[in-house]
Amino acid sequence: MKIIQCPEEMNEYANAIKKIHKISFIPTMGALHKGHMSLLAKAYKENPCTKIIVSLFVNPTQFTEKKDFEKYPHTIDADIKKLVEFEKQEGLKIDAVFIPKGATFYSDTEYPSLRAYTIEKQDIVLPKIFFEAEGKSRPGHFEGVFQVLFRLFHIIRPDFAIFGQKDFQQVLLVQYLQKQYFQFLQIITGDIFREPSGLAMSSRNMRLSKNEKERASVIYKALRNAKLFIEKEYETKNYISVETILSLVKNILLSESFIEKIHSIEIRKRMDFYECDRIEKNKKYVLLVSVQYAGIHLIDNILL
Ligand code: AMP
Repeated sequence: MKIIQCPEEMNEYANAIKKIHKISFIPTMGALHKGHMSLLAKAYKENPCTKIIVSLFVNPTQFTEKKDFEKYPHTIDADIKKLVEFEKQEGLKIDAVFIPKGATFYSDTEYPSLRAYTIEKQDIVLPKIFFEAEGKSRPGHFEGVFQVLFRLFHIIRPDFAIFGQKDFQQVLLVQYLQKQYFQFLQIITGDIFREPSGLAMSSRNMRLSKNEKERASVIYKALRNAKLFIEKEYETKNYISVETILSLVKNILLSESFIEKIHSIEIRKRMDFYECDRIEKNKKYVLLVSVQYAGIHLIDNILL
């Protein structure tokens, strides 16, 4: 497993690999957990002949609040160890880990050969849906994600990039980016990997105590209960009012005192991410929740 910090070196290395092999790429912000590892396993399972590259980079430009960025876990050494163990355990090979250093990653002057692969946040124009849901409670977040992926995809030129459905709206953003700039790239999505309690795994969970972590399963409980309610209602109805479902979710979430703020509870069409007043039998939706829980931002979703 090669460890590369310099973007120019990463670019040269990836170009050399691409003469013979295809590349599967898994971008992460580190603080690796089983959810990340499930994406690696998926990359390998779907395309076993590709070279696997993982990036570890806590991208400052996607954080709305500086404090949130500073509190985000930085665990590079532990992450490398986890990747080595995972290789052994799964009998797969991670070809390279890309660990760009700080804000210089974006620097034109520091890496002149990568100048063409730079996009400024203010030059990114996103469709309306990225200013809704997570985009509404975290202004600038999706532009930051777009900015870093634009650079990473240009440097690595992967054939496959693997993303988790946990960040549902992020997958839509990646698809948008792919259509605009990276037609050679295939986006693969992985299911949400959960704790036995149902809590969606997240690097931010590291900041929760055992008790807080256990009780955070209320988020999944609310999503599951809504799904069960919907299935029951569909036995006698062809459509259900969204308001009824959202208030059911809200009541369950509010029963947990660690929930400090509900940023959003929404049902959107899976096709175009548009909001709706009612859901109809046999159509596809996603129920998304975003909350402030015991001082951290948690998101989750369930497919309907
Ligand atoms: P992050 O390090 O949080 O930026 O996440 C890196 C990638 O891992 C993203 O594509 C996430 O959607 C994905 N991911 C994060 N948590 C999970 C999870 N619990 N299950 C599956 N994928 C996840």
